[in-house]
Amino acid sequence: MENLHIEKLDTDIVVIGGGGGGLAAALTAAERGAKVLILEKRRSAGGNSALALGLFGAESPVQKRQRLDVRKDELFKIAMDYSHWTINPRIVRAFVYKSGDTIRWLEELGVRFEKLVPWYPNQTHLVYHCPRGKGKAIINALAKKCEELGIRSLYETSAKNILTNERGGVTGVVCIVKDREVRINTKGIIIATGGYGSNDELLKKYCPYYSEELRYDGIPLMGDGVHLTTEVGAATEGLGNLLIHGPMFPTRNRNVWNAAVEPYTIWLNKKGERFVDENLQLIPVDSANALNRQPDKICYSILDDKMKKNILEQGIERGVGTRIMPGTKLADLGKRLKVQANKGWVKISKSWDEIAQWIGASPEVLNSTIEEYNRFCERRCDEGFAKDPRFLIPLQNPPYYAIKLCQVFVDTIGGIKINHHMEVLLPNDNPIPGLYAVGVCAGGWVSESYCMILSGSAFGFAINSGRIGGKTAAEYSLR
Ligand SMILES: Cc1cc2nc3c(=O)[nH]c(=O)nc-3n(C[C@H](O)[C@H](O)[C@H](O)COP(=O)(O)OP(=O)(O)OC[C@H]3O[C@@H](n4cnc5c(N)ncnc54)[C@H](O)[C@@H]3O)c2cc1C
Repeated sequence: MENLHIEKLDTDIVVIGGGGGGLAAALTAAERGAKVLILEKRRSAGGNSALALGLFGAESPVQKRQRLDVRKDELFKIAMDYSHWTINPRIVRAFVYKSGDTIRWLEELGVRFEKLVPWYPNQTHLVYHCPRGKGKAIINALAKKCEELGIRSLYETSAKNILTNERGGVTGVVCIVKDREVRINTKGIIIATGGYGSNDELLKKYCPYYSEELRYDGIPLMGDGVHLTTEVGAATEGLGNLLIHGPMFPTRNRNVWNAAVEPYTIWLNKKGERFVDENLQLIPVDSANALNRQPDKICYSILDDKMKKNILEQGIERGVGTRIMPGTKLADLGKRLKVQANKGWVKISKSWDEIAQWIGASPEVLNSTIEEYNRFCERRCDEGFAKDPRFLIPLQNPPYYAIKLCQVFVDTIGGIKINHHMEVLLPNDNPIPGLYAVGVCAGGWVSESYCMILSGSAFGFAINSGRIGGKTAAEYSLR
């Protein structure tokens, strides 16, 4: 870590945030000859990027080696159609078109990618590039190259204010180093501060998914970039969008979650009613949207003992992302369910009335839901939500297991309004001279529902927007 005896510094570009977006931006700017300084609030680089498994790429060398036909134009159109053109097409195009080359760039930095496989069953475009060693491997490769190019990184250093001149252009940044304030003079600032998953105030204000039960699965992040830029007049875009997965088991107990989202389970809301085709968890954003409409945004997945035994002996029907493959036997499921029952997250009972009581539902409603569902199973036709008949299996073998599920998000997406050069915009859409935003602190590239067809977009946008923003900032600062 840098030994700090500084009170004043001068540089061409300051990058605020040392996650994926920030490191990619710093490296790109330095490759173009700019003097770059990275400020990172935490003790080490990485941010949420270090926790990601994979990033989006189209027409990449990995796809070419696997002879996959994954066209940029087609993915651009998918992204725009999915959002009903509510987002900025120029940003989406810049991102998608850069993404294949970014995989090449990362390979040149020493990152190695796994063979591409579907993120969800039947995914038609294989775009989710998983590096060996996960997101951390990309962070390490970027950080190493930054160091080789002589980029300084100041850790445990938090940006506090952006300084501007009378024309509104960037002149510097004030940061807090331990308990000291330090002023850095610079021509360009790249904001790469990530999301605001730990900021309840922003979530409550902007996020339609907000509830007391909403869980966040990333590192502590407060959305400093939104505050830093709006203070100098920037507009916002996309506040309130989440990279959400639901329904999900809130602890990191993957085996209970895997069992709870098997397609033959049924999910009941607090009233004891079904509300969705449970097979929808294949696309966790869609099922999260369905859950978002339910009381308190929670539900209970129900399975019977025969289903549990089947998971132990035959394995799960489907995997979760690229991590758990279909057919995986969850050998310790029985034990884990009991542990969670003791913690109050699972109810095991032979009586539907008792399960209804635990959920807080009327026993009549819950019993009638189960009877109706079992009739649908006999007739091989889900008259409620048209679930694939392959997954219509009656719940008849006690004990029954009720697993409490809620909404979990891994990051927020959006906040600062930018254009396709990653320039931060004023409310009149004119750029603030010298100010750029990259990564998930920037908005306008994802609509309120994250598009899973372009799997790995959050991490992908961080790295790609970082490369684009780094280039723009260098051109501005060095001219
Ligand atoms: C468990 C998990 C799994 C995920 N898996 C995937 C996946 O497989 N694919 C995918 O696409 N996405 C995934 N995501 C989301 C994705 O990783 C992130 O959304 C994305 O990488 C964010 O990158 P970023 O550069 O914008 O921000 P980050 O990587 O979060 O970096 C932001 C950095 O800014 C620093 N910072 C904040 N404020 C300040 C300040 N005032 N001064 C100085 N520094 C500051 C922070 O400390 C942090 O290091 C996952 C997230 C999590 C938590």
